This record gives sequence, structure tokens and C-alpha cells, in this order.
Amino acid sequence: TFISLEGGDGSGKSTQLAALADWLRSRGHEVVVTREPGGTPLGTKLRAIVLDARNAGAISSRAEALLYAADRADHVERVIRPALARGAVVLTDRFIDSSLAYQGAGRELSQREVELLSRWATQGLMPDITVLLDLDPTVAAGRRTGPADRLELESADFHRRVRDSYLALAEADPERFVVIDAAAPITEISGRVRARLEGRVHL
Ligand code: C5P
Repeated sequence: TFISLEGGDGSGKSTQLAALADWLRSRGHEVVVTREPGGTPLGTKLRAIVLDARNAGAISSRAEALLYAADRADHVERVIRPALARGAVVLTDRFIDSSLAYQGAGRELSQREVELLSRWATQGLMPDITVLLDLDPTVAAGRRTGPADRLELESADFHRRVRDSYLALAEADPERFVVIDAAAPITEISGRVRARLEGRVHL
């Protein structure tokens, strides 16, 4: 089973990822926890390159999209597919929807082209379930869960486009998406995630 966790910056993804992994393990599953960008040795280098360049405001949107796609291609081939092949549950912090939301809507590249690029990179692999932690970016900014400047790197408008895009993606594919209101208290959120995943696919 392939599960991706998605959400805007400061939506509490890392916390929920750890809680979800613990729960799945407690149910006897082998769980491979991974992330994008940075799920492989090459990906770790690409993550540093793309985030440093972005933080310095020194990367073109198309170059950024290609680097995320390169990271994803390596990630799928070297980590995700082998783990799925031996029956593990793969839990990834971000996947294709991040590219659609951030590079597509955020950077205003063509959604269709970003999707084709990502599908080429992954050879069509899609998550079975995508948990979207939905949070108003102004609430996320107030929380300051990550490095203080993470949300401030981009405009409020950018973050709003990202959020709206995630919600539109979820609405278009209700079979795959589980949308969770991430404004709730942490333990309540993890409880809701479990409740929604219970009985879905073969967990
Ligand atoms: O989720 P995480 O905090 O590790 O992501 C690192 C940064 O990369 C975040 O600021 C996120 O917004 C950005 N990112 C992006 N496009 C992606 C994946 C991540 O802009 N496809």
C-alpha cells in the first residue's frame, strides 16, 4: 500500500507522519517512511540544491519543477517500488500532488504539463491513499511550526493558491484523497487520520 501525506507548509505533516507510521507498525506492517524531496542519496543532494536556490530566490520555475521531478524519479525507482514489491506499506511525506500544488498552482506553471512531467518521472505510479492536511495558510503562519521564515519566503497569495489547488485535487479524486482539517488539536488529527484509514485498502 502506497500512502502519501500532503499539505501546505506548517500544516503539521511531520508530526502526523510519525504518528501514522507508529500506528501502522503497531498493526504489524512493515512501514517505509520516506519523503520528497530527499528520499535517496541523490535526492538529498537535489533537496539541498533546490531549497538553497529557492531560498536565495535564484531558481527559475521550470528548473525547480525539473529538479523535483528528478528527485521523484529516483525516489520511485530506488525506494518506493522496491518497498511496495516486497509488500511494505510506503508512507511518503509529499509526492505528485506537491508538484501540482506548488509548481503548478504556486509557480503558475501549466498543471497539465507538470502532471505529465511527474507521471513520466514515476512511470505512472500513484498513491493508493493521499492524506491531505488542510490548513488556512494564515493559521499556519500564526503557528510557526517550522523555521520562522519558511512561510514568509513566498507571498500569502502563493500559499493560498497552493491550498486551493490541493483542495481542488482532492475534490477531483475523492477515492484517493482523505482530507483532514489540520486546525484541530494534534491528537485529534491523528485520531481522525486513523479512523479514515481504517478499513481502506488492506491496512
Ligand atoms: O515538506 P518539506 O518542509 O520538507 O518541504 C520543503 C520545502 O519544499 C517546503 O517549503 C515546500 O513548500 C517546498 N516544496 C515545493 N515543491 C515541492 C515539494 C516541496 O515547493 N514539489
